[in-house]
Amino acid sequence: MGSYRIGVLLGDDIGPEIVPQAVATLAAAAEDSPGLTLQFVDFPVGAHAYKTTAYTMPPGTLEGLAELDGWILGPLGHAAYPRDNPNALNPHPIIRRHFDLYANIRPSRSLPGVKALHEGVDLVIVRENNEGMQPDRNMHKGGGEFMPTPDTALSTRVITRRGSDRIARAAFEIARARHKARLASGQTHPSGERPRVTIIHKRTVFKLTCGLFVDTATEVASEFPDIDVNDHQVDSFAMALVVTPQRFDTILTTNMFGDILSDLAAGLVGGLGLAPALNVGERYAMAQATHGSAPDIAGRNIANPYAIIMSAQMLLAWLGRRNSDRAALLAAQKIDQAVHLTLGQDRVRTVDIGGNATTDEFGRAIINRIRSSPNILTAKNA
Ligand code: NAD
Repeated sequence: MGSYRIGVLLGDDIGPEIVPQAVATLAAAAEDSPGLTLQFVDFPVGAHAYKTTAYTMPPGTLEGLAELDGWILGPLGHAAYPRDNPNALNPHPIIRRHFDLYANIRPSRSLPGVKALHEGVDLVIVRENNEGMQPDRNMHKGGGEFMPTPDTALSTRVITRRGSDRIARAAFEIARARHKARLASGQTHPSGERPRVTIIHKRTVFKLTCGLFVDTATEVASEFPDIDVNDHQVDSFAMALVVTPQRFDTILTTNMFGDILSDLAAGLVGGLGLAPALNVGERYAMAQATHGSAPDIAGRNIANPYAIIMSAQMLLAWLGRRNSDRAALLAAQKIDQAVHLTLGQDRVRTVDIGGNATTDEFGRAIINRIRSSPNILTAKNA
């Protein structure tokens, strides 16, 4: 406890520009936190690994990751990988599936100093991560898509009771924890005084698959009487989310709906550069921002590292909760405060959110905040 080994996989395009900012931020927070030691272990992955090893995920990577406590995975430009080459697969579904990272936790919140379509947004999308419509991960063997004739393509959707049950439990636990944190800090949520989980589905059409998902989640809900629960069809929900996102707190949904809705939610608060995420299983967690590898801006030192930094912050907080490790929890809290002071008070922002700071400048400003505010935390805040 107090000492963690974190895997670092840079990924493609903007990955090597933003992931080092997340590593440097964690390292700075650890330096400033007696009792917390972080060690970083690099793993090649993606297009660079393919060039040097002929694999986008070299053999031994999964075994190496299994030795560690968690990982930071940069974005992968898998659309540009050679097609139909079994050595050039997209690594992230393989990692998510291999380590049973069944929950993808994707918060969206209005941020200080960031002009966006909406203010007062504070929601989290809890997305099932390994089933659903994603054919690259929803089968034990083979893929979930196939072509019986050259002119017919089929895709399968997998929903299981077990998968639905555990993602629902994750969502209700998160809703409860968010409510507790708000109470502790004297804040309220615009959706009301009680925590709320909103289940998103399309059961009018997917009667069996969405039906099983909603029914299982509703059963789980009965074990959380302190939490309000409602549900929406995904189409009308998409409109409600765009118009009044402040109404929503914790959103529980299946894989593909969650994938689409989390990019939409990112757009409401300022864009993909502001959308962190944590992939979580029983034993491991992986920080991986919602966005892709942004090849259109790669190599220019202008990408926003916020999302990957805050994904890494979520990883540290997860390690802290899992190990009842106060030093890790305090360090995660310190990063959260430093990042938001950098945006709001120091007004250091990257170009995607209307500023003129480079990727490096934003990262350095956060580290300066961490180093210059050693006393921003007190025992009371823990
Ligand atoms: P993208 O998320 O990479 O980019 C969409 C837009 O958002 C682009 O204009 C990009 O410049 C901008 N953007 C994304 N992240 C940003 C950041 N941190 N700072 C500033 N601007 C940012 O989506 P895409 O263009 O559809 O996909 C590019 C590649 O990424 C493709 O190969 C795709 O398959 C892959 N992809 C990977 C992941 C992942 O690894 N999790 C997710 C989505 C897409």
